[in-house]
Amino acid sequence: MSDQIEVRDTVILGSGCSGLTAAIYAARSNLKPLVLEGHEPGGQLSITTLVENFPGWPDGVQGPELIENMKKQATRFGAELRLAHLTSVDLTTSPFELTVGKDIIKTRSLIIASGASARWLGLPSEQALIGHGVSSCATCDGFFASGKEIAVIGGGDSAMEEALFLTRFATKVTIINRSENFRASRIMLERAIAHPQIEFLHNTLVEECLGVEEKDLKGLKLVNRKTGERWMLPVSFMFLGIGHVPNASMFKGQIDLDGDGYILTEHNVFCTNQGIQLHGVYACGDVQDRRYRQAITAAGTGCMAALEVEKYLEETGR
Ligand code: NDP
Repeated sequence: MSDQIEVRDTVILGSGCSGLTAAIYAARSNLKPLVLEGHEPGGQLSITTLVENFPGWPDGVQGPELIENMKKQATRFGAELRLAHLTSVDLTTSPFELTVGKDIIKTRSLIIASGASARWLGLPSEQALIGHGVSSCATCDGFFASGKEIAVIGGGDSAMEEALFLTRFATKVTIINRSENFRASRIMLERAIAHPQIEFLHNTLVEECLGVEEKDLKGLKLVNRKTGERWMLPVSFMFLGIGHVPNASMFKGQIDLDGDGYILTEHNVFCTNQGIQLHGVYACGDVQDRRYRQAITAAGTGCMAALEVEKYLEETGR
């Protein structure tokens, strides 16, 4: 039995850049959106450092500051932000039914902006050492790496950004890239290459994180994929920068997902089920974008989703 049932015009799942942009637009349309902030309130921007490519900030802006400003902007127009996350969802009912802990929330429309979460290597020793030398958030845990030699895994912009940030604390940062090629943008890669505290290992995989018994990372067992050579790299911290996994598994069977679990959308934001458009359900931001994954594109699709919600509610008589 639920403690509380409420019916909303629109609910937005996620309070990252996309969800908050949707909230600003929906709130300004007087829809009084409810934003469920989810597992990672503020999304990826809230755990990043300087964002240099968001238009309007010539000197860059700190990710958390950008998110805080968006929250203020959304609440100023009447959006309600709630620190809660979805337990389950039923999109076959009208209005849709969302279970949030003990509460049931009914909503005439839904904007899914649940983003994507950091990917892990999946090694048992890695999982055992999370919080004990293994981290996926440089901005959260970088300080603890002060004066230590550390490793950053990955070859994309996340890895470069983390490595550059971590040079503020660590004495040496080794970037471990599993291939020869980088996905990182040229400017980020060049900055990392030029940095005297950063070294690179190519074609290298982490086989094991050492120190499970001591509950403290002591080093990484590495293997060169080409030569088969194995060795131990003594590091006190390992930061993951190997991409993200979309937070859409709770929609499996109700919304079409691609092979990697991203929500498939038509015209950027319309959700489908078995190829047929699901009226009133929209997805925006990284949960449906495997190609661009930028703050500005997330904001763009958030805006589109909110405009579609407004149109849909109007067309259905609200
Ligand atoms: P990417 O998908 O770009 O890169 C992921 C990296 O991790 C690749 O080098 C990949 O290797 C490697 N990788 C993936 N899985 C594993 C694994 N299991 N073991 C070892 N290595 C693995 O993700 P990012 O998070 O770096 O970037 C995502 C998007 O966000 C990009 O568009 C990027 O430009 C953007 N971004 C922008 C920033 C900025 O402008 N300041 C900062 C951070 C991100 P492989 O190539 O072999 O698959």
